[in-house]
Amino acid sequence: MNTIIYRDPNVTVFQSALFQTNTTVVQTNDLVLVVDPGWLPQEVNAIRQYVDEIRGFKPVFLLFTHSDYDHIMGYKAIDADRVFMSEAMSLHPEKTKILEQAQSFDHQFYIERPYPLEYPQADFAVYRDGVQFRTGQTKMTFYLTPGHTVDSMMVVIWHLGLCIAGDYLSNVEFPFINHSSIEYEKTLEKLPRIHDKNWFTRLIPGHGTPALSINDWLRRRTDSLTYLYALRESISTGVPFDESSLWHRYRFPLYQRQCHNNNLARMQNEYEQGLWSWDPAMQIDLDPPATLRQGGGEDEQ
Ligand SMILES: [Zn+2]
Repeated sequence: MNTIIYRDPNVTVFQSALFQTNTTVVQTNDLVLVVDPGWLPQEVNAIRQYVDEIRGFKPVFLLFTHSDYDHIMGYKAIDADRVFMSEAMSLHPEKTKILEQAQSFDHQFYIERPYPLEYPQADFAVYRDGVQFRTGQTKMTFYLTPGHTVDSMMVVIWHLGLCIAGDYLSNVEFPFINHSSIEYEKTLEKLPRIHDKNWFTRLIPGHGTPALSINDWLRRRTDSLTYLYALRESISTGVPFDESSLWHRYRFPLYQRQCHNNNLARMQNEYEQGLWSWDPAMQIDLDPPATLRQGGGEDEQ
């Protein structure tokens, strides 16, 4: 059963018992927004009940940060007025395959749901950075953030100072690079610029606990970049990657070793194709950008 791991008057984060996967429910005077409803039927039901309690006459919007099956399983349980996702997610060429992954999860664990499993259909597909959607006083801005998957997307809710980030900047997962390490790096690079345009303090990742200050999410960004650069260095110099330091920091090696090895194989392949080369001087500054360092207080609101 999921637990509520974070709550303030506008934001409730439900965390699944599986993979510490987060569903975020945002409520303002203008809308209710549900992000990535998942995993288990009882968990999704608790989210649905909560949404029904608070929705009143407000529109309910559903948003998917990316198409990984663990993030879309509750799609049909939420009665949504509008569904948001990236254009890449809405045009995904392997929708059937993703749905099959969700179905085989349910079959493997004999899970029955009172709603069908379907691949989400977009009413609003984000095709470029900085696209906005405003209703009443509530403004959402969307950013395309490929790297983890080709179709990843983040949303910033302006007056709440909140970024919902999908599978980036987790405190329980190092970067899982299922699309491209180059795009992944660009996404991390872009975050301070997204901040400068939108200003947010809090960031909710797809798995793990929310980062509640600028310093907190900046630290996670540095951790992610450090991991990426260490992999690049190891692949291009042939000096083995120091895995023990990884398992010192992340607590689930018996599963995550596989994810790390996938990263290695993908990046080795990218390297052999000449998609990147390693030059320590080329790495982006791991220190927080100046604009963020000055403001970087913990409790601005
Ligand atoms: Zn995920």
